[in-house]
Amino acid sequence: MANNQKNYDVIIVGAGPAGATAARELAKKGQDVLLIDKKEFPRDKTCGGFIPVKVLKELDFHLPEVFIRNEVYQVSLYSHGFKASTYGKGDLLGITIPRAELDQFLVNKAIGQGARFMDKTSFYHLEQHGDGLNIFTSSGEYRCRILIGSDGVFSKVKTYVDKKNQINPYQTGFAISTNVYRHKDDKNNDFKLFSIPVAFSMGWAIPMGQQVNIGVGGPLFKKRELLAVFQNHIKKIHEIYQLENREIKIKGAFLPAGGFRRKLTNEKILLIGDAAGFVDPLTGEGIYYAVRSAKIAAEQICKQNLSAYEERCMGEFYPRLRKSFMEAVLGCNKKYMNIKLLREKRCKHFVEMMQKI
Ligand SMILES: Cc1cc2nc3c(=O)[nH]c(=O)nc-3n(C[C@H](O)[C@H](O)[C@H](O)COP(=O)(O)OP(=O)(O)OC[C@H]3O[C@@H](n4cnc5c(N)ncnc54)[C@H](O)[C@@H]3O)c2cc1C
Repeated sequence: MANNQKNYDVIIVGAGPAGATAARELAKKGQDVLLIDKKEFPRDKTCGGFIPVKVLKELDFHLPEVFIRNEVYQVSLYSHGFKASTYGKGDLLGITIPRAELDQFLVNKAIGQGARFMDKTSFYHLEQHGDGLNIFTSSGEYRCRILIGSDGVFSKVKTYVDKKNQINPYQTGFAISTNVYRHKDDKNNDFKLFSIPVAFSMGWAIPMGQQVNIGVGGPLFKKRELLAVFQNHIKKIHEIYQLENREIKIKGAFLPAGGFRRKLTNEKILLIGDAAGFVDPLTGEGIYYAVRSAKIAAEQICKQNLSAYEERCMGEFYPRLRKSFMEAVLGCNKKYMNIKLLREKRCKHFVEMMQKI
């Protein structure tokens, strides 16, 4: 490594909501931060783009109104037989924003606090170097004291924390989604969840301005069944919305299933967001956990106490994620979802989950 190579306090790999939030929080606290991402920004990310209100409470700034496609006040839950229950007391439950716009905005916020950002820069590997780490990327070598892995579900950084890191089809989720176009007069703006005939899985429909993001998701070992039910899910969506007959592009995506204990740190590395496995296994929502784990990581780095990071995250998230895991097992039960009272109870529960964990 050249002697004039810059030495950072913290290098962060992956500039999604987790990485950008960590960069911003650390730069705000006076740390010298480099944030890298392999993609060119703004980049898209397969996601429903639903930002629950509990995320907004974590941010100490407002998301610009021009980005907001919809405000969501209600949740509807559909049984296999297409019976619906709707809940919402008029309080804001969340907003929808396309991920390319949200993520670029969060990166800009980090840059605004003094973090350096380099896109089109892939993390390759690292080497221990004295008290710090040498980080090898597609744009050269950099040095840091601490590395944060926020590089998503198939994190490369994770392999340095957990040597056994392998894709486990029981602890990894799979989703198929697309955006459909709706008629300009369609005013259907609630967050819709669907019980689907695949174990541990659910379907969704999320308003995104003139489009609706729809999908089905469940554990990776149910991939074939999920692919098989997706066309039927689209048919159901046609019964609810006034849709335009435009061609659609279907995407598959992976996500971690939260609720399992994972190793998240060593002396110089922390994992946050999807890289740490923090996604609700029932609803697939992960932006809250990405932002919150990034904030906890930044606090622990500034306190020079990395070992407490894992304990704090587990204390805050694990009970919720574990409960959701159990609910995912129960929720797919066909009879259970057909009972109006139970469906209503669950619908209310989803509303509460959007407000707090
Ligand atoms: C279909 C689907 C729908 C979803 N809908 C919602 C929703 O509506 N609401 C919600 O809250 N959550 C949703 N989620 C979950 C949410 O998308 C994730 O939890 C969230 O994106 C996690 O943020 P992150 O910053 O941890 O990771 P990511 O957003 O995945 O960011 C990781 C970044 O790391 C970069 N990267 C990867 N490898 C490298 C490397 N080697 N070098 C450099 N950079 C690298 C990637 O380019 C990427 O930009 C959904 C997930 C899926 C799959």
